Amino acid sequence: MGVLHLHLTSPPDETDNGDPQAEFALGAAEDMALSLSNVQLREQLEEASVRDALTGLYNRRFLDDTLTRELARAERQPGPLSVLMLDIDHFKPINDDHGHAFGDKVLIEVAGLLSNNVRRGDIVCRYGGEEFVIIMPGADLAAARQRGEHLRQQVATLNITLDDETPLGLTVSLGLACYPQHGEYADTLLHHADMALYGAKQGGRNRLAIAHH
Ligand code: GH3
Ligand code: MG
Ligand code: MG
Repeated sequence: MGVLHLHLTSPPDETDNGDPQAEFALGAAEDMALSLSNVQLREQLEEASVRDALTGLYNRRFLDDTLTRELARAERQPGPLSVLMLDIDHFKPINDDHGHAFGDKVLIEVAGLLSNNVRRGDIVCRYGGEEFVIIMPGADLAAARQRGEHLRQQVATLNITLDDETPLGLTVSLGLACYPQHGEYADTLLHHADMALYGAKQGGRNRLAIAHH
């Protein structure tokens, strides 16, 4: 766990039965190590309960709590907040044609790309199977749209290849909803982002659509 350093102000009073100070120190160190490892374990469990096991992104539970909290903050400050919902296009055939393990690899790649291409303070979550949500506190519609477009292009140029080196050609569709114009609550914003995403799919995929007022 660590090192316990004791500085003795008087020489150790060694007896035939050993060094009582050293024994005390040893006992105290062992107690502290146990307590610290308990704290560490609890932190690990807490962290695991808000993370998605496959991608390491935040899970849906964390998303709901965080979006509610961030909206309250946006109202207080006040400031904008944007919600991007992103869904991988034609993901099912990837699984069907190349296997579930390859599908998992694609999910991990996309998750990494999203995490590496958002601003610090933005929150990237795995919303469901191949759906992701990004909460962007402080980002208005124009900023979030630009970021979403950037992410879409980044995914389209992501270099994932099949065994025979042919590129997979992965794309994503995105729906964007913004506080305050599209809703004031977590569920309404997510709903509007989802509707916009549906519109992006209907419109031909590999595109971003903005929620209607
Ligand atoms: P669309 O462009 O309309 O979004 O089509 P799609 O094929 O992406 O959509 P659909 O909802 O039909 O397929 C989603 C697929 O995601 C189906 C499911 O098997 C797969 N999936 C969900 N979770 C996981 C996962 O953890 N790992 C893998 N490999 N696949 C998953
Ligand atoms: Mg999909
Ligand atoms: Mg989907």
